[in-house]
Amino acid sequence: MQAQEQENAALPRTIALDGAQGEGGGQILRTSLALSVATGQPVAIENIRAGRAKPGLMRQHLACVNAAAEISGARVEGAELGAQSLRFAPGAVRAGAYQFTVASAGSCLLVLQTVLPPLLLAGAPSRVQLRGGTHNPMAPPFHFLERAFAPLVRRLGADLQLVLRRAGFYPAGGGEVEATIVPAAGLLQPFDLLERGEARERHAECLAPGLARHVPTRELETLGAALGWSGEQLRYGTARQDEGPGNALMATLVHANVTEVFTAFGEKTLSAEQVAHALVKEVRAFLQSEAAVGPHLADQLALLLALATWQSGQAAAFTCSEVTEHTRTNCAVIERFLPVRFAIASRRAASTVRVAPAG
Ligand code: AMP
Repeated sequence: MQAQEQENAALPRTIALDGAQGEGGGQILRTSLALSVATGQPVAIENIRAGRAKPGLMRQHLACVNAAAEISGARVEGAELGAQSLRFAPGAVRAGAYQFTVASAGSCLLVLQTVLPPLLLAGAPSRVQLRGGTHNPMAPPFHFLERAFAPLVRRLGADLQLVLRRAGFYPAGGGEVEATIVPAAGLLQPFDLLERGEARERHAECLAPGLARHVPTRELETLGAALGWSGEQLRYGTARQDEGPGNALMATLVHANVTEVFTAFGEKTLSAEQVAHALVKEVRAFLQSEAAVGPHLADQLALLLALATWQSGQAAAFTCSEVTEHTRTNCAVIERFLPVRFAIASRRAASTVRVAPAG
């Protein structure tokens, strides 16, 4: 082989992705960026967020691209507002201290979702300061990541500690989160999460900074009446008045093997009762199933377990109450980057998602 051919053969091949596939949202971009950096494979994405009303890169997606580029010294083409195609070629991931800000009220936790997988595989701990929204619709809220997601990261043998310095809601944003990410001492260890285990604790809390007191009261009372939860299980959250206006109603369900957090968000067009009923519906769907995790934790856990399966060569599985198009799309994108294969068996009581080494 000629020297140039040898060099080309050693270069990682660019992975070409269609952002319109499956559910066509921002998750395709974030999972691609995360795994591009984690594996060193360049990626070229077309039709970014083609399935959304305003397609292309919005401010919060640009923040994800820039963050992924910063931790890996990537070469990037097309990182512009509204851009629908992007080329991203990462260098080696660097652990360290980072600050990432989403200038709009977009979720800063989606930026964390992008940089976490590669930083979990970096050679040293990282400290990441994030600014932007912390409780946004269509994004993992802080309390979900702290209570439901981070313990699963720890179960892999790594560590993720999260501190909420200030809550940020749409439209003002301005929230602050500090994340400490510590890679595993050895390889990430996959695990099975097939049963949620016995119920240990259930409670709801309402964040409603800057809103009249009757709003959280009505939300909590409506939820309590519908689920049969007692006053002791219904709590006012501890947001400061100046963090508002904003409204997130959260239900935390602690089971022996896993904690789930479901969240409904207040909007000007919704009554407090409607917000509560939206959350009741999610909690009931989970409790009526026999699954270990709900639909959002499912798509985020799929990525964690795929990384551990890749590293260790061992299979892993979990059950979830619903396999969404989101989860299927995420699994399909993961398979493009990692030598793993997903098998999804959908059943009424609980669906099973299994990830195993490819081949
Ligand atoms: P996308 O809609 O493609 O931008 O992706 C949204 C991301 O946020 C996915 O990882 C979802 O699992 C996550 N997500 C959305 N809503 C919630 C929620 N209420 N709780 C936890 N995660 C959420």
